[in-house]
Amino acid sequence: MGKRLIVVGGCAAGMSAASKARRMDPEMEIVAYERTGFVSYGECGLPYYIAGIVKHHQDLIVRTPEQFAEQGIAVHTYHEVTEIDPENRHVRVRDLQTGKERKEHYDKLLIATGGRPILPPGLSAEKLAGVFGLRSVEDGIAIREFIQERKPRRAVIVGAGYIGLEMAESFHSLGLETTVVEWMEQVLPRSDPEMAALLQEALENNGVRLILGAKVETLAGDPQGHVRQVIYDGGSVDADLVLLALGVRPNVELAREAGVTIGETGAIATSSRMETNLPDVFAAGDCAEAYHRISGHPAYIPLGTTANKQGRIAGTNIAGGTAEFGGIVGTAITQAFGLQVGMTGLTEREAKKQGYAVRTVKIKARSRAHYYPGSKPLHIKLVFEQGSGRLLGGQIVGGEGVNGRIDALATALQQGMTISELGQLDLAYVPPLAPVWDPLLIAANVALKG
Ligand code: FAD
Repeated sequence: MGKRLIVVGGCAAGMSAASKARRMDPEMEIVAYERTGFVSYGECGLPYYIAGIVKHHQDLIVRTPEQFAEQGIAVHTYHEVTEIDPENRHVRVRDLQTGKERKEHYDKLLIATGGRPILPPGLSAEKLAGVFGLRSVEDGIAIREFIQERKPRRAVIVGAGYIGLEMAESFHSLGLETTVVEWMEQVLPRSDPEMAALLQEALENNGVRLILGAKVETLAGDPQGHVRQVIYDGGSVDADLVLLALGVRPNVELAREAGVTIGETGAIATSSRMETNLPDVFAAGDCAEAYHRISGHPAYIPLGTTANKQGRIAGTNIAGGTAEFGGIVGTAITQAFGLQVGMTGLTEREAKKQGYAVRTVKIKARSRAHYYPGSKPLHIKLVFEQGSGRLLGGQIVGGEGVNGRIDALATALQQGMTISELGQLDLAYVPPLAPVWDPLLIAANVALKG
């Protein structure tokens, strides 16, 4: 009889690990518990489902519990793991539909409990109708149904991170008057302000109202319990629908109570093999931190790309193989109102905070050959180290061609390249897709001149 793996959390990290462990060890008994009604779904597609670009919520699902069962992975939806007992190697599981609890034995355990939207005191998605967070398929369905049934006129999004901005585009596309309130003085708080300003301009040109530098204090409702206002330190804004998108916090309570070490970022600390401090207990995805290859410190940048990789590595090691997670450089991309915004590595602000002697270069170039119609402006900012010229990070904003270039930059960063080495890359050229001097090469060469 094979060993028994229990997976807590059935999304990207958990189900990647389960699938990998199954492929590597056909004998292992694999059981996954998920407290919502869905497993293995593309959370990243939720803004597009709400906008109606993705027609059905089922389209977001990669694999159903029935399909996992065919692979020999038993998936239990509406089951919450409420306690981990590492000494006796069992978990306590509650069936959320019957309320019944039971103990289940494990030989190996994966904590893949993910993250949840941050809800500061005073703001709650439960108290007033029309207030939502966005994390699960259920959240997406609830928002879409609310819009279809209640026909709200004014949407207010609290938080201008990438989820907030993708949702601003979704609400706007559905004809809602859309306002974004953000406590920082810029949108996309992870990027440098002058790069974020380009997106701010696009939002405002499309009629999205931005209230920046405003700390939301509370929400006010009408006597029927429907949300009506978002109140911030400098005023208030009327709302029929409020989306709270203030960022993500790792779900670590279950792990912490079991004695799992929580790292300096507030997420679970793991080895490069995704092991926690407890024997045979692994963690992966948005509940875990990741080593940042540029800063050299653990970081919490919860993304689907990382969750899938960490899950696969955990699954390999759980099944007796050997795999290590090499860390992240913080590469991310989003798109809203015709602008693509990509970033990788450290921003100027982050690099300075970490004590680097920082130099930067900013250029504006065209996405295609100058004579080829349809070209769009591309703004590139490179952050590098004074003296060594080592690349520390980059941000790109433009109407097209951002993803390939930010990926090239991420690769250069990961390889520890200097500005000079970046300037020598053999990048592709054809007039409809790129100029002969690719904007990345132009940026590197301008940096070298400075
Ligand atoms: P989660 O997806 O959070 O899954 C954890 C699961 O564990 C949940 O289903 C939860 O219900 C379950 N769970 C928690 N506790 C328990 C328990 N005690 N018992 C049982 N089950 C439990 N990333 C990108 O890289 N690119 C994008 O474009 C992008 N867009 C996004 C858009 C949106 C709207 C959102 C919300 C996220 C987006 N992300 C994106 C982030 C990405 O979706 C996450 O990083 C990824 O889903 C994390 O996977 P995970 O398995 O670690 O955690």
